[in-house]
Amino acid sequence: MKKIVIIGGGWAGCAAAISASKAGAQVTLLERTDMLLGTGLVGGIMRNNGRYTAAEEMIALGGGDLFELCDQTARHTNIEFPGHKHVTLYDIVRTPYAISKLLTRLGINVVYEARITDVHMDSKTILSVKDQKGRVYEGDVFVDSTGTAGPMNNCSKYGNGCAMCVLRCPSYGGRVSVTGLCRIEEMVGTKADGSVGAMSGSCKIYKESLSEEIQRELNEKGVAIIPIPEELVEDHLGIKACQQYAISEFRDNLILLDTGHAKLMTPFFNLDKLRKIPGFESARYEDPYSAGKGNSMRFFAMAPRDNALKVIGVENLFCAGEKSGLLVGHTEAIVTGTLAGNNSVRYAMGKETLELPVELAVGDAIAYVKDEMNTSEGMGKKFTFSGSVYFEHMKEQGLYELDIPSIRRKVENLGLTDIFNKPLI
Ligand SMILES: Cc1cc2nc3c(=O)[nH]c(=O)nc-3n(C[C@H](O)[C@H](O)[C@H](O)COP(=O)(O)OP(=O)(O)OC[C@H]3O[C@@H](n4cnc5c(N)ncnc54)[C@H](O)[C@@H]3O)c2cc1C
Repeated sequence: MKKIVIIGGGWAGCAAAISASKAGAQVTLLERTDMLLGTGLVGGIMRNNGRYTAAEEMIALGGGDLFELCDQTARHTNIEFPGHKHVTLYDIVRTPYAISKLLTRLGINVVYEARITDVHMDSKTILSVKDQKGRVYEGDVFVDSTGTAGPMNNCSKYGNGCAMCVLRCPSYGGRVSVTGLCRIEEMVGTKADGSVGAMSGSCKIYKESLSEEIQRELNEKGVAIIPIPEELVEDHLGIKACQQYAISEFRDNLILLDTGHAKLMTPFFNLDKLRKIPGFESARYEDPYSAGKGNSMRFFAMAPRDNALKVIGVENLFCAGEKSGLLVGHTEAIVTGTLAGNNSVRYAMGKETLELPVELAVGDAIAYVKDEMNTSEGMGKKFTFSGSVYFEHMKEQGLYELDIPSIRRKVENLGLTDIFNKPLI
C-alpha cells in the first residue's frame, strides 16, 4: 500500500488526508499542535459568493466531504452581510470534533504535537520527515499543508507583535515549512504598499461578554451590524489578508457573525474604544487574546508549484492551502487539499496527475493564481472565490453559478463526476 504523509492539519491538510485515503492510500497526518483545523479553529464563513459554486463543484467531483460536514455543523445558513450572499457559518466547536471523527472513521493516522523540523532526502526525493521529538515518518509521497501564518518573529517584525492567536507558537513552536526544509525558495506575499505579509482579517469576542440584545440578534439572525461612532472608527482595511472584506462597511460598522464566538470582521480593535460602544461595555477577546492590538501575520512562505499542485524542485512533494499560493479561505484550502491528496496517490502509483479544468471555477482559480503570482502586482493581491479580484474574474468568465443541477451537468460533461471518490489503488 502506498504511504502518503501530510504535514499540517489545517483545512488543507484534513482535505488532503481524506482525499488520499479515499484514493486508497495509507495516510498519516502530522499536526504541530493538539488540535486539527489550524486557522479554521477561529474561522467559520463558508459558501459566501463564489464559494458556493466552488463547494458545489467539489461535491459533484466527489470531493465534497468537508463541505457537507460544514453544512451539517452550521449554526446559520443562507444569511447575508455587506457584500456577501448565501453565507453558511459553521460552528467552531462542533466542526473540529466532527472532522476528527471522520478522519478516524477513514482510518487516517493523525499524530498531534508532531512538529516537523527535518527532512531526509535522496537527491530531490524526500524519504522521511522527522518531528521535534525525533520521531521519523517514512512515506512515498508527502504533502506540505503547513500554512503561511506566523511564526512569532514574523508577527513581531511585520505586524504589531505576537497577538496570542489560536496557532499558539509559544506553546508548540512556530510553523516550519517542509518546502523550506527542502531548500526550495518560497514566495512572499506583499500588501498594496509593497510591505511584506498580510494581517488576518477577523478577531473573536467572547459572545457572552456582549449585551443580551446583541447576543440575541446573533443567535437569531447570525449577524449583527453596529455602527461605530465617528470618533471611534479605526481604519485597518489596507492591511487585511481578506480583501473581500476591505470595503467601507467593514470600517464604519462593527460587523459581528455568530460562529459560536462573536466573529468581529476587523483585524483588531482597541479594547478601550470598543468598550465605549453601547453593548460592548464588558467585551473581551477570545482570539487573538490581544486583538485590541493586533492579529496574526500570514502569506510569508508559498511554494512554487504547477497546476497539479506538485512543488517544483522536489520529486515527491505536493502542496495545498495557503502553502499553494495567495488563496485565502477554508473553501480554497479544501479545494487545493483535495486535489493535492488525490494527486499524491496518482504520483505514488506512477499515474498521470490531475489538473482541474479551467471550465470549472475550482480549476480556473488554481491556474489564475499561479499566473498572477508570476507578476509583482499579483503578489500584492489576495485571491478568493468570495470577493475582490478573483470573484470579479469568476463572474466575467461566467463561472459564478448557483444552480446545482447545472453545476452537476457541467462536471458530468467534463467526464469528472465523482473523480475524487474513485479508488486509484
Ligand atoms: C483569524 C482568521 C479567521 C479566518 N476566518 C475565515 C473564515 O471565516 N472563512 C474562510 O474561508 N477563511 C477564513 N480564514 C482564512 C482561512 O482560515 C485560511 O486561509 C485557511 O483555513 C488556511 O488553511 P491551511 O490549511 O492552508 O493553513 P492553516 O490553517 O494555517 O493550517 C496549517 C497547519 O499546519 C500546522 N503546521 C505548521 N507547521 C507545521 C509543521 N512543521 N509540522 C506539523 N504541522 C505544522 C499548523 O499548526 C496548522 O494547524 C481565516 C483566517 C484567520 C487567521
